[in-house]
Amino acid sequence: MKICRFDDDRLGIVQGEEVCDVTGALEVLPVSRWPIPPGDSLIAHLPEVIEAAERLLPGAARKPLSSVALRAPVCNPTKVVAAPVNYQLHIDESKKDPGIHHNVHNLDSTGFETPVDKFGPFLKANSSIVGPSAGVELHFLNRRNDHEVEVVLVIGKKCKNVARDRAWEVIAGYTMGLDMTVRGGEDRSFRKSADSYSVLGPWLTTADEIVDPENISFSLKLNGELRQSSNTRELIAGIPHLIALASSCYTLHPGDLIYTGTPDGVGPAKPGDVMYVECAVLGNMEVRVR
Ligand code: MN
Repeated sequence: MKICRFDDDRLGIVQGEEVCDVTGALEVLPVSRWPIPPGDSLIAHLPEVIEAAERLLPGAARKPLSSVALRAPVCNPTKVVAAPVNYQLHIDESKKDPGIHHNVHNLDSTGFETPVDKFGPFLKANSSIVGPSAGVELHFLNRRNDHEVEVVLVIGKKCKNVARDRAWEVIAGYTMGLDMTVRGGEDRSFRKSADSYSVLGPWLTTADEIVDPENISFSLKLNGELRQSSNTRELIAGIPHLIALASSCYTLHPGDLIYTGTPDGVGPAKPGDVMYVECAVLGNMEVRVR
């Protein structure tokens, strides 16, 4: 199932080029009072929401996808986890380009299973999440601001110390993401956390719909020109590896996001640019830069 949030917090099921409005399915979510349980309530109760949505589907109002504003499909993760340097060709381009490494981000990972094992996943501020319709508002305009297109995992259940061979069990679904990045010497958690620097969308595709998560092709065009193109089979630390590593440190909660890393082709985006993320499996999204 392809689940989207659109317009004024409407819940939708995407079918072909249409959105079916199943906002009524949110009635199954429990009403919470302080302290609100950690995690995203919709993701935590996804099976019940899907059941209710399926009941509403035959009578649901339909709108053309092109006529709605798509919001981020996950609203309240406790963490946005992200993998640095997880595609070899991106590591190669980063080593060559001082505009990326700034003589600070030394990429030698000799002695470690993968670069991600050496550097560890980093966290992006939750407040940086936006959907495709919001677009990206660049910060630090006098500096290089890069696009990084990535496949994003959505965690479905509370978990800790997940073994690699059990990792698939904790994934609720997948979506596309842009890990927007200010280049510079500061910590990643600062440079990648500006408001709107974690684009998420176009919708959540539930895990049962994905035949092979380790074979998802995706690309990014900037103003119509192809800039990034790869496939999750090129991930150095694969999906089970990332979940095992992240959950060896912190509890993952429903709705937590794992940005899996960007392939080569990163480059600057400027106000007025249009980024177009294409993924036959997870959907396409247009994201404007301002
Ligand atoms: Mn990234």
